[in-house]
Amino acid sequence: MTLPTWPDRVAPQHRVHVNRTLNLRTIKAIGYDMDYTLVGYQAAEWEERAYKYLKENLLDLGWGSPRFVALEFDAERVIRGLVVDQQLGNLLKVNRFAYIKQARHGLQEMPYEQLRAQYFGSPIDLTDPRFVQLDTLFSLSEGCVFAQLVDLFDSEGLPGVHDYHGIWQRVRKALDEAHIEGELKRDLLKDPDRYLVRDPLAARTLIEQKQAGKKLILITNSGWAFSRQVMALAYDDYLPGDMTWRDLFDVVIVSSRKPGFFTSNHRFFEVMDDAGDHLKPFSGELRSDAVYLGGDAAQLENLLGLSGDEILYVGDHIYGDVIVSKNLLQWRTCLILSEMDQEVAYLEAIVPIQAEVDRLMAMKQALEIQYDRLRSVDLLGDKGSVDEQDELRQRLLSIDAQLGEELRSMAGHSNPYWGPLMRAGADESLLADQVERYACVYASLVSALGVATPFHYFRSKRSMLPHDL
Ligand SMILES: [Mg+2]
Repeated sequence: MTLPTWPDRVAPQHRVHVNRTLNLRTIKAIGYDMDYTLVGYQAAEWEERAYKYLKENLLDLGWGSPRFVALEFDAERVIRGLVVDQQLGNLLKVNRFAYIKQARHGLQEMPYEQLRAQYFGSPIDLTDPRFVQLDTLFSLSEGCVFAQLVDLFDSEGLPGVHDYHGIWQRVRKALDEAHIEGELKRDLLKDPDRYLVRDPLAARTLIEQKQAGKKLILITNSGWAFSRQVMALAYDDYLPGDMTWRDLFDVVIVSSRKPGFFTSNHRFFEVMDDAGDHLKPFSGELRSDAVYLGGDAAQLENLLGLSGDEILYVGDHIYGDVIVSKNLLQWRTCLILSEMDQEVAYLEAIVPIQAEVDRLMAMKQALEIQYDRLRSVDLLGDKGSVDEQDELRQRLLSIDAQLGEELRSMAGHSNPYWGPLMRAGADESLLADQVERYACVYASLVSALGVATPFHYFRSKRSMLPHDL
């Protein structure tokens, strides 16, 4: 087969967004996560399936009320980056300073007064284990079921559960114990067209990076049996001649236990069979025809003879892939956020609305200044401006009403429950803050790096301060 050609113009899903300048010419090795990075999944299909298994396991706890049985997965209920408050049964959208900008108790939107009463208008302590951030697309099903169960608990109770924390614990336990991941992976291999998002340009991206002299490394938490099958499904059809995905990688590491791979020391083993069951301790040099299991990032750097800033790591998990690799090892990082193409589409759709909001805000500020001046004149005993003040007040109210309209129409272009991913009110969301701090660059697809070429110099935009012109 011939390789697919690059598009003439850079589509939203191929844009690379730059937080910190990154010169790909100085990068000697590129490490890739697999699930939701090299291999794309239909998140709604996958999570609906996960939800089904999760619900089956919860049914075994005796939670068989008709309302529980009738629950269905809603892919829009939860977005990446939300925070679960296990104590109060709330889902929270917080800004970069950990202030809550939006909250839902179960499925219900929480009025502002209640929000203030519960959290005292203070930022939340994200290091408190009571709060759990939903940081990958694999969290959508558990977030959705948690919100639904909180509602159910409030109205009819749940057998054996005494508080919201108990609901979260049961959901987590059902997910971990029931080998849901194994079931899902079997389903995927049986019906790959339903679950996989194939990107022919990803194969070309890897070929060009390899030809440009980069060492390519796969570092996945998935086991060997699944990894070899799903990588073949995602890549082999798009490679020339009898080339397979194995020819693309210099090092393949499975069952890597990230974030532990970046934070602690583990032995490397060599995988000796297709099932991934037979292992032998690793020694000597890394070979491209071998498959490794476990190990850690510090050993990998030594074996490759590279320092952290010569390695780019590409992954979709904000904590397990990006925060730890950047923080502990100073690896350069690229976050794959598949929602970015929708986020960019949202920003494009709201351009005229945003312009109108800016115009109304400028008018509002000018009127407020006039109004404040009249009031201070009033303080000196000149009551002559009362009518004028009334008129200004009316005009301000009318502008507020128009602003409300515009903001509602803006919200109609993003998630109906939570709005855009990267904003919390007028501020950056917690997720956006984490992306900004830890991801050198971010994009919705691996092939965005390919469109940019392996030689690209990504330059960050000049950041704006409140006093900048
Ligand atoms: Mg992943």
